[in-house]
Amino acid sequence: MKKTSFREKLIEVRTSKGLTQTEVANLCNISLRTIQRIESGTVTPRAYTIKQISEALGFDFFKAYDDPDTYTKKETKTKNIFLSSIEFVKDLFNLKTNTMKKVSILSSFCFLIATSIFLFTYNSNAQSSKQFERKLKITSESELITPVKVAFTDDLTFEDLTQIKKDLLNKGITVEYKKLEFDKNNKLQAIGCFVDCNDGFNGYFFTNYLNGNRKYGFYRDYDINSSSPFGTGSLRKTIVLDVGHGGRDGGSFSKGFQEKEITLQIANKIKTLSKGNEDIEIFLTRSSDEFITLNKRVEFINALKPDYVISLHIASSGLEEMDGFNFFTNNKNKLKKESTTITEKFVKSISKKLKVNTIQNMNSHLLKHVECPATLLEIGYLSNSEDYDLLTSKKGQNKIATTIFEALKEIN
Ligand SMILES: [Zn+2]
Repeated sequence: MKKTSFREKLIEVRTSKGLTQTEVANLCNISLRTIQRIESGTVTPRAYTIKQISEALGFDFFKAYDDPDTYTKKETKTKNIFLSSIEFVKDLFNLKTNTMKKVSILSSFCFLIATSIFLFTYNSNAQSSKQFERKLKITSESELITPVKVAFTDDLTFEDLTQIKKDLLNKGITVEYKKLEFDKNNKLQAIGCFVDCNDGFNGYFFTNYLNGNRKYGFYRDYDINSSSPFGTGSLRKTIVLDVGHGGRDGGSFSKGFQEKEITLQIANKIKTLSKGNEDIEIFLTRSSDEFITLNKRVEFINALKPDYVISLHIASSGLEEMDGFNFFTNNKNKLKKESTTITEKFVKSISKKLKVNTIQNMNSHLLKHVECPATLLEIGYLSNSEDYDLLTSKKGQNKIATTIFEALKEIN
């Protein structure tokens, strides 16, 4: 029996799948020119190129290619992950030649050494990935489960990327950089990255152009009720609604209503409004009636690194005539300037629909310690009869939630 050459097998499989040479090149992450040269017989591919092509196309040339469809998708994927380490090194060479003007030879060289160590670490880690003890697993209903959100921005250096990779490994998540390009200041410009949360959620994202306004990356929301547990690509603005009080801490109350219930109801309504919105993503610090310490809330928020935090509360006063929304910032917060700017915009937008009072300073633990712009918002007074009606009726709550969400869109 005539022994089929790899060249013949490639042409056979490619045409049977109805793929063009360009499509095969993209699938295999190999240059079109290489595919053309293999098919025309001008080069004999090296073993790993054969492996790479045959696995991407779903046949095993080294195994007498008995059945092209013996690999399940998953197996092929796993193998591709392994093979892409080689591709990664190849990419680095491309980087070196393509951006010679931008990056000095010396820094490229250091980059290569660092990457070799990096790859070594990756491979050894990949092999033991099954042994990861997830730190973020759900252990009880009341535990605050921190979502993971990683945004790759144009101020990251190679060292930052290495650190991000390490930090994520500690969380049981593997990231594999398939393409990285830096500008002359060694800041990230382009990224292609494969993410595997090792819990059934994985994906790829890619961009050739990062700038200050564009965030690329991924998120994994471990909340079992989450409608979007995982996503990659261009990231939406993240807003945390800190839902005031909960559990044994009821907050203020009046005539059968407690602050902790109303804040949760309204937060849930705002979150529902955000579903399907392409610009805003909302996270809550609690989604049920549970007690969460202020430190835990701060920890959750700082791990998530959101763009903005609103801590939702309801006011109460001995003076029945006091009414309207109250806004507070903290003048000891690291980002007090940003907090003030965003709160001013927020107030302006809310004022179109509901009564607002002036912004005040509040010595709040949460406002002081969160590392992002933050506002504490009191959505009216339970002690005022008009506000009470608004806060406790379905119609009123819908109005409050819609007004807040519209304001969030405007300040976005
Ligand atoms: Zn409160």
